[in-house]
Amino acid sequence: METAIWLDQLNATERAELVRGAGAIPEPRPDLLIVGGGIAGVATAAACHQAGLGSVLLIEAGHLGAGATGGAAGLLTPEIHEWSDPEPFVDLARASLDQWAELEESSPGGVGLVDVDWIGLSPDPGALAPHQSPAVEWLEPDYVAKLIPGLALPMAGALIHHQGRVNPLRSLARLSATLPAVATGVAATGVTVRGDRIVSVDTTAGQIQPGAVVFATGLPPVLDGLDIEVPWEQVKGHLLVTEPTPLRLPGIVAPVATQLEDGRLLVGGTFDMGDESPVVRREIIDSILAGLYATLPQLHGLRADYTWCCFRPRHPDGLPVIDRIHDLGNAWLTSGHYRTGILLAPVTAQALVRWISSDQPPAEAPAWSSERFAGRGLTGR
Ligand SMILES: Cc1cc2nc3c(=O)[nH]c(=O)nc-3n(C[C@H](O)[C@H](O)[C@H](O)COP(=O)(O)OP(=O)(O)OC[C@H]3O[C@@H](n4cnc5c(N)ncnc54)[C@H](O)[C@@H]3O)c2cc1C
Repeated sequence: METAIWLDQLNATERAELVRGAGAIPEPRPDLLIVGGGIAGVATAAACHQAGLGSVLLIEAGHLGAGATGGAAGLLTPEIHEWSDPEPFVDLARASLDQWAELEESSPGGVGLVDVDWIGLSPDPGALAPHQSPAVEWLEPDYVAKLIPGLALPMAGALIHHQGRVNPLRSLARLSATLPAVATGVAATGVTVRGDRIVSVDTTAGQIQPGAVVFATGLPPVLDGLDIEVPWEQVKGHLLVTEPTPLRLPGIVAPVATQLEDGRLLVGGTFDMGDESPVVRREIIDSILAGLYATLPQLHGLRADYTWCCFRPRHPDGLPVIDRIHDLGNAWLTSGHYRTGILLAPVTAQALVRWISSDQPPAEAPAWSSERFAGRGLTGR
């Protein structure tokens, strides 16, 4: 099937939540309008509602999770960013995983957070060692062979306990269920600005007159009356989920596969630079499977039951924008969450709550400001 597995794992209530309020605006004058029903928008709407920032309406052009969120792997692995990202990013990512755990506790029925171990494999332990983090436990090849029987080559490993994963659509559905007003199938098409405020938002289902607006549209929105100049691109990725297998992996085994429910394996997360077609490419799926078989020969012939691709929204430095639209007093944007938007959604939401409620940028705001793009920035007109 050329679709993500996530929808098939949901129950009827969760599925219904993803298409809630189809085509109708329940609250045309909300205190706060959130545009975009991916994880950033839904987490922000839920946090604003929870913080008591007045009436909150969320609109989404398609169904909840129609963008990158519905195709993500759903892995929440802050510690591995020690190897690739600056320390402030890793600290925020850690804080965000903690907030996922709080959401799991505080949301009715939880948000579907699964506690998992992450094991990175390397034929050469020296390849990972220079970036040692206190969270990492180093595993000798003999021990790795016991944890993951059948590896084609002896591998050393780096083990990190208590990382996370979610079915991104389940998390969306559970968070959305806490919201009083959601309209799917409603796209924002334009805004009217008066003075330094957005006074109305035109949509495919009529006009909304919000007190404040957050655009959480994956990429910066393209709307009549709003001229946002922030550079962006999209990076396509392919993923697959295999048929069930008796092999049990100890959590997320990078770069091999992640153990899912009922014995299926989630594999991939390619970076298909320059491929702008929304089509699933058979040759990429075959190459993902070939990599799996080469690492674990016993899996040779295991079929992919689900194959899909989606696009990561990205700004040039790979970091998100979380910013007020500078010449507007009542409009914010969060975009470009690239490969960690699921992980970072709770801290993004909390940063926006603090900014909107206090009218002051939070301490971490400069790192996510659009002003970092020289000569271009987040102005509304
Ligand atoms: C292959 C792949 C694997 C990934 N794996 C992971 C992972 O393991 N962990 C992780 O943390 N991240 C992962 N990501 C990244 C993650 O998917 C994104 O960073 C995240 O989903 C971005 O969320 P978002 O809410 O900002 O954007 P989106 O999910 O794209 O949501 C934006 C929404 O806004 C809606 N919208 C746009 N314009 C309008 C409009 N005018 N009116 C109304 N609605 C509008 C869209 O329909 C869309 O639903 C992965 C991404 C890919 C492609």
